[in-house]
Formats: sequence, structure tokens, C-alpha cells
Amino acid sequence: MTRTYQTTAIESAQEMAHKRMEEFEDYLRLESVSTANRQIPETVAYVKALIEKTGGEVQVLDDLGGNPVIYGFFAASPQGNSERTLLFYNHYDVQPPEPLEEWLTEPFEPTVSDGVLYARGVSDNKANFMARLNALSVLREAGGFPCNVKFLLEGEEEIGSPNLGRYIEKYADLFKADACIWEAGSKDKYENYVVSAGMKGIAYFDLEVDTASIDIHSSMAAIVDNPAWRLIHALESMKNSNNEIVVEGFHDGIQPLSEKDKLAAATLPFEPDQVVEQYGLTGKFITDGTDVTPTEALAFYPTMTVCGFSSGYTGPGIKTVLPRSAKAKLDCRLVPGQSPEKVRDSVRRHLDEKGFEDVRLTMIAAEGAQRTSVEDPFIQTVVQTAQTVYGDKNPVIVSPSMAGTGPSELFEKYLHLPIAGVGAGWAHSGAHAPNENIRLEDFYENIAHMVTLMEVFGS
Ligand SMILES: [Zn+2]
Repeated sequence: MTRTYQTTAIESAQEMAHKRMEEFEDYLRLESVSTANRQIPETVAYVKALIEKTGGEVQVLDDLGGNPVIYGFFAASPQGNSERTLLFYNHYDVQPPEPLEEWLTEPFEPTVSDGVLYARGVSDNKANFMARLNALSVLREAGGFPCNVKFLLEGEEEIGSPNLGRYIEKYADLFKADACIWEAGSKDKYENYVVSAGMKGIAYFDLEVDTASIDIHSSMAAIVDNPAWRLIHALESMKNSNNEIVVEGFHDGIQPLSEKDKLAAATLPFEPDQVVEQYGLTGKFITDGTDVTPTEALAFYPTMTVCGFSSGYTGPGIKTVLPRSAKAKLDCRLVPGQSPEKVRDSVRRHLDEKGFEDVRLTMIAAEGAQRTSVEDPFIQTVVQTAQTVYGDKNPVIVSPSMAGTGPSELFEKYLHLPIAGVGAGWAHSGAHAPNENIRLEDFYENIAHMVTLMEVFGS
């Protein structure tokens, strides 16, 4: 495509974004914090109105519990291709804005400064939803929709999508589509436009052990066991000092890396010195000295992380106490082939076999992993259409699997379609953090990409 095409596409995207900016800002003003159950009905009504204004039909599904799931439908125009259906997944809920004192603007009062739009939920993921609606408006003004378009918006993504599976299973026919664009995506810190083709899953555990009913004078440690030591030993038995997870059965079902996977990982940018600086790391990478590269590990390998540990007294000075209990939080990022339930069972079996029957294990969050082949024609279409918009300015790269987690496995399981994640974020969007933001330029470009993608998808 020519430079002229890019410019025109981005210009009409920008024009439409300006026209619909007030609607976007009103959407950002809605405090749709799912974990606090704030303004959910108001937000659902507002999203419904937005879709209808864009020329779509809406059904609000709320018969299976939890916050409503919104279905939107835009029929291909007579000149378009009604045989092809693209599904957009978004969520209308946001994270809580706290800590409030760290915001430089009001979290629910959208504020633009130097081309950057600040608001809670703007990057994750209200801007992506608005970009898709704006793209539909551009197409509508240009003569109609080139393919069928469906939306699935849920209101519980930020609390782990506990009810989404039931809705997708029951309404699989309604949401049936040929391919899906995932809720979010962003440029990386090298300004590459990232197309993600998968997500890791997660199994999150509470581990607890009690050795007494009250805290005890620590002199009794001569004869009474210590729950902190017990839990440390239990945890230590699961991962060795080479950082290998040694729980039997944990890795069952994982396919070995193919040459294609290795190649895909090798093309991902990774600058060790920058990462060290970004986090102020004090040690080397745990992949150093192994035959796994950092980008392979980030995309393709599961993890086991002690997220927190508490027991006894950790305040200033001295308290000689033998605590009565110890607790740990453990998260495992999973890859395709693993399931949270099987991982839980393998950890339970391991603890029992190692003599830690008294360590209680509770899985408090679970999501499977999902990955679309980077060679899937849909991923290729998303990449090629992005290249026509971003040109040489932002190289388009495919990330085989994001290090993060979302409910994409449910879409694969019930809808059987390829999934690609793209969006209007950038490296400093600060999703979940104070001063969440997007750059308006990225927003316009993403609209242009969605316009082009729908055109090519319907052709
Ligand atoms: Zn989020």
C-alpha cells in the first residue's frame, strides 16, 4: 500500500474519533469497577446505546449470573460479504483506581495533556472498544460494513471472568464467528506494533499450615514444630535451586517447542540491559546458563512464583514468638496442554508424597492457556493489514503468547476460532496502575487498522 493510503486512512480515523470524542469521554466517566460493583447497570445501558448509535443490534444477556454479557451485531452491507463474521471481544469493567494519591488527574475525569489521554480503564480496554466502534462508523459512512461483525463485551474480566464460560457455552451459536480480535494490545517499548497470538493460563493458590491454635513463646521451639519452616520446606520441595519446577505431573501435556516456535521467539525484541535497568534487577536472569532463551521462556514456558509469604512477627525490633500458622500465595502461569485442575492435583499429590499432608492448598483463580498458530491465515491477515497502516514507522511483530492471562481459552474451546490481540496501548499505558493512559495518535492508528482489517477480512 502507498503512503497516501496510510495517510488517508489515519486522517479519516482521526476525524471520526474527534466526532465521537464526547461519547468516548462519557464512557470513561462511568466508574465500572467490577470488584466494587460500581455503576455496572449504567455502563451496560451506555454500551448498549453506543452500539445502537453505531448501527448495530444489541442483546443484553444476564440469565446466567454475574455482570451482564453484551452481544452486539452489525450485518454486512449488501456489497459486503455476509459469509464472513469477525468477533470483537472487549470488557466494560475496569480496575479500581486506587491508590488515588498517585494520580495526577481525576481517574474518572478523562484528561488530555500533550496528546495523551488519561483515565482509569482507557487502555484496558475502553479505548479499544471505542476504536472498533469508530472503525465501524468510518466504514458505515464509506458505504457499509464489509463483513458481519459481532461483539462480546463482558463486565467481569478484571475479576477473572468467573461466569463467562457459562455464557459462551450456552450462547456459542450466537457468538459463532470465523475469527476473533482480542480485547487489548499495544506497541512495545521499541515502538513495535505487537500482534499477540496467545496467552498463558494461570492457577493461583493459597497455601496454609497451622501447627498450634495460638502463638507460642519461642523457647518452645525446642519441642514444637514451626509452621514457617514447614511451609518453606514444602515450597522448596517444588522448585530446585536451578529454578526447575520438580513437581511430578506439572509439565504433563506440554508439547515440546517446535523449530517454528523457536524461530518466532527469536524474532522478538529483548534487550537484557534495558530489562535489568527497568526493574533494577540485582541478579542475573534465571535463563542465563540454560539452553532456553528469555523470549522462549516468556512465551512458551510455565512458571511457579511465590507471590507472598507471611508468618509470625515482622515489625521493628524483637518479638520472640513461635507463630501458630504460616501462609503463602503461589501463582503458576500455564501454557497450552496444562490445565489448572491437573496442575492443582499434581501439586496436592506432590505435597502429600513429600509428607506435607497438613499444608492446605486452595486454588483461588484458574484460567487455561490458549495459542493460535502464528502461521494461521487470520494472524497473517492481521499482520499484513497492520503493515499497511503502520508502514515503516512501527514494525509489526507477532508475539506467539503474551506473558499475561485472559479468558481466551474459553473462546477457543466453545467457538473454535483463531484469535489475535491488537490495540491502542503503548509501553507506558500503565494498565491497572495510576495515571493509566493512551496516546491519541495510537488510538487513531488503531482505528485505521481496524477499518483496513474489516475491509480485507470481508473481501
Ligand atoms: Zn485488566
